[in-house]
Amino acid sequence: MKIGILYICTGKYDVFWSDFYKTAEQFLLPNSDKQYFVFTDSETIQSTDNIHKIYQEKLGWPKDTLMRFHLFLNIEEELKKMDFLFFFNANYTFIKTISENELIPTEKDNFLTGQLHPVAYHKKRKNFDYETNSKSTAFIQEKAGTYYFAGGLIGGRTSEFLQLCHQLKNCIDIDFSNNIVAKWHDESHINKYFSDIEPKKLHPGYCYPQGWYLPFEQKTLLLNKSKLGGHSYLRGEGNENNFAFIKDKLFFAKQLVRANLYRIFGYSFI
Ligand code: UDP
Repeated sequence: MKIGILYICTGKYDVFWSDFYKTAEQFLLPNSDKQYFVFTDSETIQSTDNIHKIYQEKLGWPKDTLMRFHLFLNIEEELKKMDFLFFFNANYTFIKTISENELIPTEKDNFLTGQLHPVAYHKKRKNFDYETNSKSTAFIQEKAGTYYFAGGLIGGRTSEFLQLCHQLKNCIDIDFSNNIVAKWHDESHINKYFSDIEPKKLHPGYCYPQGWYLPFEQKTLLLNKSKLGGHSYLRGEGNENNFAFIKDKLFFAKQLVRANLYRIFGYSFI
């Protein structure tokens, strides 16, 4: 089976590439032929037999993430040669084998895969951070939506995934023409799409940020951006002033309480 791995690392985000590639080769979909499509302006990343470098300039935040569907469709004909396509955020690393059965969606999943967000597994629907601006194409009606998905891992059978890309590219362009950027960028649009077409749902252990505690089996480790200068630094927006050590400890304690409340009650209010 041919799997296209879609990966964007513009600007400083190329710092993540080598760990991503090394651990994906070791643990991700071990019985498949993985072809990596890397959208980047990095001079250190080079094409090889299975790495296909596509020059992509940095677009600025939030376009670096929001324009992902436009980027993928720039090489649509290449991608059509793949059986399945999966996008991963740049800071993903893999720590345990992720088999084909775990990731690949079937007909009952509408041939799409989504990632349940680690910030929302414990929340009730009313607290999901969906787009609430009814003028945005990402708007989700109060009665719709059952899950909150992360934008960091999405995939599917090639035809269904490309269909999603076309629809979301159009939605984002319509929003632009109305001077709207959805609250959580691509993620808001992905949630809207998955509220209509429900995908396979990966538990949050497939999206396990470094320094977090989640009540799910840990399959990945999302490298902590604060240890590499922070979101703002990596995105080229300036410096972040943080008391990283204390903040990390307090956050971890909160995560533990949250996980235990979730285990007992099925949700947590913190
Ligand atoms: N990204 C990039 N260059 C940037 C900013 C973002 O390549 O300067 C891409 C990269 O693939 C990253 C994704 O956009 O994983 C999402 O951005 P980020 O991880 O900062 O967002 P978060 O998911 O943490 O909100």
